Amino acid sequence: MQHPPLAGLSASTLAVHAGTKDDATTGAVGTPIYQTSTFLLEESQYQAIEEGFARDRFIYTRYGNPSQWSVEQKLAALEGAESAMVFSSGMAAISAAVLSLIDKGGHIVASNELYGGSYAFFQGELPTLGMSVSYVNPRDLAAIEAAIRPNTQILFFESLTNPLLKLADIPAIVEIAQRHGVRVIIDATFTTPIGMKPLEMGVDVVVHSASKYLNGHSDLIAGVACGSRKMIDSIWPRRLSYGGSLDPHACFMLERGVKTLAVRMRAHAEGALRVATWLESVARVRRVHHPALASHPDHALAQRLLKNAGGMVCFELDGTDAQAVRMLNALKLAKKATSLGGVETLVSLPFNTSHAAFTGAQRERMGIAPGCVRLSVGIEDAADLIADLEQAIAAAFAD
Ligand SMILES: *Cc1c(COP(=O)(O)O)cnc(C)c1O
Repeated sequence: MQHPPLAGLSASTLAVHAGTKDDATTGAVGTPIYQTSTFLLEESQYQAIEEGFARDRFIYTRYGNPSQWSVEQKLAALEGAESAMVFSSGMAAISAAVLSLIDKGGHIVASNELYGGSYAFFQGELPTLGMSVSYVNPRDLAAIEAAIRPNTQILFFESLTNPLLKLADIPAIVEIAQRHGVRVIIDATFTTPIGMKPLEMGVDVVVHSASKYLNGHSDLIAGVACGSRKMIDSIWPRRLSYGGSLDPHACFMLERGVKTLAVRMRAHAEGALRVATWLESVARVRRVHHPALASHPDHALAQRLLKNAGGMVCFELDGTDAQAVRMLNALKLAKKATSLGGVETLVSLPFNTSHAAFTGAQRERMGIAPGCVRLSVGIEDAADLIADLEQAIAAAFAD
């Protein structure tokens, strides 16, 4: 499906050109928005319906739509995948991908620091389908292997965890999976294909919340699954049944967002490293997590696996959660909001958002100390962000 001339092009170029199609009728530059639910039926469509396969035929938009195919080709090119499939949310992509790789009675080994929505899906939905999940420390390869049972079918990990930014050793996880004949799904939302391409490391399916960096403008909910053509063909019937198809207008928005992915990720990573480096020098800050910092426990692995360390920074104020709340309230530039990966800097506290369901003691055991702050560094000037943080930290400790 991919243009032959795209072979060998770099990510910045693919982000702009891959999949995007000028309009043949008018010469308009860029993919038109095919805002339709249905298509005129001709002989070839009747035949596809009869054969029961209509993934890339013009039939009905829940099955497929040229606006989807365009952004799917762009995302596949960036991931180095044969195929990609967009969904109406990251969770739609994750649930469809997981359920297409597991049978009744099957078992998953997953990170014990999963995104809350994935954890809720695993705990709330899978047991009702006779499936179970074991949770292990993503840094503990021996524990991952020990958790594999005869009925294990999937290893499910995130490339970088939230909020402490632990980096999964994906090549080692793939090696374990291949020895045991199980599949690997990686949620690469935090790293993006600019940071790493897990499929090249042997992963079976890469999923993203495209609501984050891929779209990049905090104005859209979408998801994507990438893999071999055969793998994505096997996920497609789940998208049909669960109904998480992405609307053509949202496809256009996502495609436009992805065009700037490479430049945005450069700006996010540069800004985040400057903010993180500055935070390390602040007396009122106990600890700073960012994969590009030499102090990060996975720094050596990050140098090996990550081409871009991304825009996420986590730090601990040398104080209480109440002081962290005061700091957030004093920020003038960074916006208090959950989510991440947008051009604007977003800031949230795990204790009252992502990890509110845990007690303080549980959070501390997970490494989330009081005063823990999560920053999604946008593409603003780092000096402006640092000035904002400096006055907000001062305000948090003023009496
Ligand atoms: C946001 C997020 C999701 C869920 O994506 P939605 O688009 O909100 O459904 C899944 N995984 C990670 C790591 C996320 O950050």
